[in-house]
Amino acid sequence: MSRTAVATLWRFARQDMFSDDFEAWLYAQEDLEEDLGEELYIELISFDYRNQSELFVIREKLAMALRPSLKCECVTLPDLAVVPMGFDGLDDRVFATLERVCDHGPPQWWLHLFRCATCGQNWVVAQEERIFDDYFFRRLQQSTADKIVAECSWPSDFITYERVLKVGQALSKPFRFTDPLSLSLVWTAQDLRRERPDITTEEIADLMGISSSQVDRLLSVG
Ligand SMILES: [Zn+2]
Repeated sequence: MSRTAVATLWRFARQDMFSDDFEAWLYAQEDLEEDLGEELYIELISFDYRNQSELFVIREKLAMALRPSLKCECVTLPDLAVVPMGFDGLDDRVFATLERVCDHGPPQWWLHLFRCATCGQNWVVAQEERIFDDYFFRRLQQSTADKIVAECSWPSDFITYERVLKVGQALSKPFRFTDPLSLSLVWTAQDLRRERPDITTEEIADLMGISSSQVDRLLSVG
């Protein structure tokens, strides 16, 4: 199967491609039956792509069929991906082929550029170990990665901690702290206020998944 065909199948499987675009692409292919096997191919071309509630089933089947040929995890990750820290081993599998190209450095201590040694994919990665315990990945074009290296010019996705937490809020769930004055919480509330002094207590509470009164207590520490 061509590299482009594999990439397109994965784009659909990982939900980075609309189902009607995928359907149109599918019908224009000539060699897929041979590459995917008759059973899966017939299932794909006879599937009703307007049936949104069953889409996940066909996506999952396709991913399972493609997975044995993987040499790295890059193609399986959505363009904007959550990789939990130490949860189901996904982080180990993803980082197994990644090499750190450079770090943004303080005050953006969380921000890194990685490149896959196997497929060459570049990723900007936010290491969010305070509230969500996740890595957030954004797929990059080579030209964007080159600009980071040559000019220290980083894309805006994770450039503030507020933006990082907004991604977490949309795609993940905050960790539940037993200590309401945990240092991770204190530092995060203080960083958000430092980054944007007019951010409200309610906005901070919303980003961190805690109450406004807890934010007031966090901000009064130190
Ligand atoms: Zn890769």
